[in-house]
Amino acid sequence: MENYILIRKAGRRRISLKIDDEGRAVVEAPVWVSKKTVDEFVASNSKFIVRQSERVNLISAEARRLGAYTGDDVARMKKEAREKLEKAVPKFAEALGVRYNRITVRYQKTKWGSCSSAGNLNFNFLLADMPEEVLEAVAAHEVCHLRNMNHGAAFYRDLDKICPWHKAARKWLKEEGSVFHRRYGLYISGGQPD
Ligand SMILES: [Zn+2]
Repeated sequence: MENYILIRKAGRRRISLKIDDEGRAVVEAPVWVSKKTVDEFVASNSKFIVRQSERVNLISAEARRLGAYTGDDVARMKKEAREKLEKAVPKFAEALGVRYNRITVRYQKTKWGSCSSAGNLNFNFLLADMPEEVLEAVAAHEVCHLRNMNHGAAFYRDLDKICPWHKAARKWLKEEGSVFHRRYGLYISGGQPD
């Protein structure tokens, strides 16, 4: 049996499981579900828990090795992300023949970029320190949303055309992106585990 943290929540209707930033399994369960049922749920997910915990622990170790971002890092990255995106976005917008409204740069835990129906593009400042091709691929992805708000065939036709390396960039983000988030998390929490 894996160790886990159990949180009982009134109003919750089903059991959920996540791995926190310290690699611990956290289970949220309705108040009326028995401990035995929760144990069985955890046991049936033990492979997932072990695999995810290992992954999270590796990410945390790497983030600690590289160090928490400092306030200066964050200020510099916000500035550089903006400069780089203000070059990349117009380039892709022109290639696709679309217009955009505004570019904003800020932190988001779950997104590298987003595009609103008003044509405003929003990007994660963590992109600043990533390889140029990765930042460009995120810019190209959001520019393609100016014409297709979904991820349908037409969207990918456009993206293949203006950014043929987008799949490699996505793979890179999936593998490396979490360490950037974690280093920012360490900055926010003052270098202490949260
Ligand atoms: Zn998208």
